[in-house]
This record gives sequence, structure tokens and C-alpha cells, in this order.
Amino acid sequence: MKYDRIWNFNPGPAAVPLDALEAVNKDWFNYQKTGMAVMEWSHRSKEFDAIHNETIALVKKLLNLGDEYHVLFLQFGASLQFGMIPMNFLGEGKTADYINTGSWSTKAIKEAKLFGKVNVAFDGNEVNFTRLPKQNELKLTKDAAYVHITSNNTIKGTQFFEFPETGNVPLICDMSSDILSHRFDPKPFGMIYAGAQKNLGPSGVTLVILRDDVLKTARKGITTMLTYDIHVEKNSLYNTPNTFGIYFMGEVLKWIDGLGGLEAVEKRNREKANLLYGFMDESGEFYRGTVDKDSRSWMNVCMRLPNEELEAKFIADGKNAGFNGLKGHRSVGGVRVSMYNAVPPEAIKELVVFMKDFMAKNG
Ligand SMILES: *Cc1c(COP(=O)(O)O)cnc(C)c1O
Repeated sequence: MKYDRIWNFNPGPAAVPLDALEAVNKDWFNYQKTGMAVMEWSHRSKEFDAIHNETIALVKKLLNLGDEYHVLFLQFGASLQFGMIPMNFLGEGKTADYINTGSWSTKAIKEAKLFGKVNVAFDGNEVNFTRLPKQNELKLTKDAAYVHITSNNTIKGTQFFEFPETGNVPLICDMSSDILSHRFDPKPFGMIYAGAQKNLGPSGVTLVILRDDVLKTARKGITTMLTYDIHVEKNSLYNTPNTFGIYFMGEVLKWIDGLGGLEAVEKRNREKANLLYGFMDESGEFYRGTVDKDSRSWMNVCMRLPNEELEAKFIADGKNAGFNGLKGHRSVGGVRVSMYNAVPPEAIKELVVFMKDFMAKNG
């Protein structure tokens, strides 16, 4: 493969588009004849300002966001958002609804409980996180401050393609592991956030999208760096942001735009999912999916093999054959294939050939 690269199925940090790596590489020493590298520019320079604004514009274009949405680039990962959200939006006397569909939702709930009243509207523990809730299973609070949801469960391997109906209550969504992977209507979302290192680029920058009416409900008097209002007012430049991360994310977004936006990305991801799940289903339980079929994630495919020895052999043989990062999370075990946007259909085709061969030899 080009540059002797291998197929990368790491869960995060994860594969990034080769086009973005090449674009950054081309401008590494001297960004567009400015005589300096991007990371050498001041975050307040007109050169960085152009990059920053272009990245914001691409986020809005690709997600089809109107003027009522603000786009921020913060630090400390999606994990800081778990605390910042209730700190800002879970006011006195209010309840926040949380839909618990996996390890990340569980962490978000733990943080929210530090700041206010939390109602777990669906507890996935009861089904061992092997499926997502149906609308009629949700125990929503009538005038909740917000409903928090994790769109893709990176560890358990489930994904929402249709989002719960919450009436006038804004949805707040952790999209860390599936942002920009398929089309959806952004209107019900009061806030969307995502650590960059799965679908957007390098770690160290978190995309936060906030709707203006929700922002206006934020509590006052919190420490400055944890106040959304300040970051919106200062366009993410209250302090020094991760300029390199924002720049790299911009190159990833340009790649998505060049492919044809979310419609094209969705088509690619559907093709990958059909290839891999299709083969698993044909394998007669040799590669057994760990979640219900109608909850399957296109981003993280979790499976078990007939025994743990075969799983270890599969992961080791896979690595030798040029497939990296196949080990499942310790809470699920087995094999996990993380195939975010940047993983091409070609990689899945080759992986399926390897899986067939492995099954023939060990089945
Ligand atoms: C990886 C991940 C996180 C954690 O992100 P950090 O940026 O490391 O804090 C949170 N939520 C989901 C869904 C994830 O996949």
C-alpha cells in the first residue's frame, strides 16, 4: 500500500483520510506560501482566522446547520462535555433525561449526577447493552432541561439512525464516534459534541455545536473556561485553541466535501456495513455479532468467535496480515472492527477475504 501503510481498525485515535495527511504534508514547512507552518501562526492571526472560519463553515455546510447554531472547538475531549453540559444546562429544580446505551452514556450520567437531578429514561444495563430502546420504552420527563443521548456506542457496537422524539425538549448528543457518517435532520438537536479522534482528525480538539436558544438557558457564574457563553462570544478564542487540530479537522472536512458530502459518505458506510455484517451472517455463527441486528453500528462492529483461543489467534494472524486494531474492548471481549469514515470499502473487502480464509482453516 502507499507509504507502506496498513489497514487501521483502531477504535480511537483512529484512521484519518490519506488525502488529509497528504494535504497537511504538502504544506507542512510552509503553509500556502506564508513562510510558516500552521502551528507557528498566532491563533489571532488573519492566516489562522481564515483556516478557523473555513472549518466552521464546512461543519455547518456538511451538517446542514442554520444560523441558529454556533460551532466551537474546545479541549479536554468529549469527556469534559459530560460535566460541562449539566454544569451549564441542568439548573436548580430541573431534571435531565439520559438514555443509557453504553459505557460512554454511563460516564455522562455519572457526571450529571454531580450537578443535578438525573432521570435515566432507558437503562441499557437491563439488556446488557445489546440493543437500543424503542420510543415507547423511554420514560421521558415532561419538561426536562434536555435529553442526553449517545448516537453511536463505540464500545458496545450499537448506533441510532433515528433519534428519539422529545417534543420541545432539546436533544443533546454525544456524536464522538459517528459524526458525519450519515445524513440526519439536525433540527431537534440543541447541542452536538464530538471528540475529534474518531471521525474528525487528531485527538486534542472537541467539536461542540450549540443552538442559540439552548445557549441562552445556560447558568451564569461558572468558572470562565467551562462557560459555553464565553466560548461562543469569543469564537473559541478566549484562550489558545488547538490550532493544529482545527486545521487538520478542516482538511478532513474538505475530503468529505470532495467525496460529495454526507450522502456520499453514508453510501460508502452502508456498503462497508453490508459487506461485513453480510459475511458475518453467512458465516453460520462463526463470526457472531454481539448486538441485535436492528441496533447494529456501522462504525464499530463487535463479534465473538467460537472460543477465546480462536479470537486471540484471529487478532494475531490479522495483525500479521496487515489488519491492525481488531481486539475487542475488554468489556465485550472478542473482536471489534472500527471502520470510521476514513476506512475505505477496500479495507473491508480485504478483511472479509481474510475472515473467509481464517474460517476455512479454523472452522
Ligand atoms: C471516545 C469517546 C468518548 C471519549 O472521548 P474523549 O475525547 O477521549 O474524552 C466519548 N464518547 C464517545 C461516544 C466516544 O466514542
